Amino acid sequence: MDASQFNIRDALGRWLCPACGYPDYAGDPAYDRRGGLAGVTICPCCLWEPGFDDDPAASERAGATILESLRRYRSGWGAAAPWAGRAGEAPEGWDGALQLRRLFEVAPHVR
Ligand SMILES: [Zn+2]
Repeated sequence: MDASQFNIRDALGRWLCPACGYPDYAGDPAYDRRGGLAGVTICPCCLWEPGFDDDPAASERAGATILESLRRYRSGWGAAAPWAGRAGEAPEGWDGALQLRRLFEVAPHVR
């Protein structure tokens, strides 16, 4: 699997967090084609961190693949898709479940 498939953009060109779909995740794509890291950003919404939460040696939530790690991470994040970042920093009207649905519409392969 080409790791760059986990660099996901929406129609407005924003990079989406591959775990929760947060739309202002990073200024640069996180993964290069071989699974290495081009840029590391901790998601302000769900706290996903490429290179840590997908690294079996570092994170208990990591799986053998990035996709497996994303799935495990989401199950830890919670079915209710809560804001896990700093209190009070969720955007006005933020809806985690809607954000996740939009992620899966744009990138069904990361579900
Ligand atoms: Zn996220």
